[in-house]
Amino acid sequence: MIASVLHEPGKPLEVEDIDLQAPQEDEVLVQMTASGVCHSCLHAADGSWTWVPMPIVLGDEGAGVVEEVGPGVRGLKPGDHVILSWAPACGQCHYCSTGRSQLCIRTVPKRGALFDGTTRMSLNGKPVHHYGNVATYASHSVVPASCAIPIRADMPLDKAALIGCSVMTGVGAVLNTAQVPPGASMAVFGVGGIGLNCIQGGALVAANPIIAVDVLDDKLDYARSLGATHTINASKDDPVEAIKDITGRGADYAFIAVGVAKTITQAWDCLAPAGTAVMIGLPPTGSTVTFDTGQLQSDEKVFRGCKYGSARIRDDFPRMVELYMADKLKIDELISRRFALEEANEAFRALADGELARGLIVF
Ligand SMILES: [Zn+2]
Ligand SMILES: [Zn+2]
Repeated sequence: MIASVLHEPGKPLEVEDIDLQAPQEDEVLVQMTASGVCHSCLHAADGSWTWVPMPIVLGDEGAGVVEEVGPGVRGLKPGDHVILSWAPACGQCHYCSTGRSQLCIRTVPKRGALFDGTTRMSLNGKPVHHYGNVATYASHSVVPASCAIPIRADMPLDKAALIGCSVMTGVGAVLNTAQVPPGASMAVFGVGGIGLNCIQGGALVAANPIIAVDVLDDKLDYARSLGATHTINASKDDPVEAIKDITGRGADYAFIAVGVAKTITQAWDCLAPAGTAVMIGLPPTGSTVTFDTGQLQSDEKVFRGCKYGSARIRDDFPRMVELYMADKLKIDELISRRFALEEANEAFRALADGELARGLIVF
């Protein structure tokens, strides 16, 4: 199989012919149809995150067709269409049992490996690591069976790929994590792939106003097309003042979809009393932020994290698929450009330069 491999941080990805072992106990082999180009992979590639083992096949947002199932796999068979989840769920721990499978405590023994501590990929006899359990920048991938979520066969798989990370995380942050009620005001800081999906999550629940904040006008235009009622270019206007002007008393919800400390502070400061800030973006390793804790008490403000849109993947992936098929969830509009696997570096460049709502690698 062929894959785009990161050998060293800050260096271009290289397309390599990779040896791939058959799926083992509780694993499946998936032939990839498409993979979204996620900001998290850009962070991994540019060295912002120091924990990434190399060489590694990146990619955490993909969909495809099951080609082979390993021993012990139930509920999946060759030919099934699946969306891949970067968060495996054991189905048995405290969090899985209480409807919060995104917090499943069963983790791989070391980063970049599968559950038995080894990889299925190798190059010239040396192991190649799996990013996010799913390694979607590859024509084929062996993944834990609990990461492959079956979906209806008439859902276009290239669109389904985006549900695997950006759609689920952004829409889920609004629907699941914050549970924004109709008519609540919300602001979204950073309208890349995840932020745009927060915006459309807000539109789905009839939040109002829905305010997009970014420093690039192109991205603010995308935000309007996905349901933002107001946009603020933070390089020109102070977003905290602008949000208070628009809402009157501050935002009921602020979503932070960018990993920048200053933005976290702005999201906190723009909140109305009883407002909630939801942190989705991942800052560089070791980042810290300070804010006035007095407002936690006096204004009953809430600051909380959001992993994977608090998704219960087995239920939420098919839910997103149904919303798309019913024309209620926009995915086509998110795909600004398609790339071949060989163009992964160009996809990263375009993503870093803010040219993309979402880029899609198609196989
Ligand atoms: Zn991602
Ligand atoms: Zn679990």
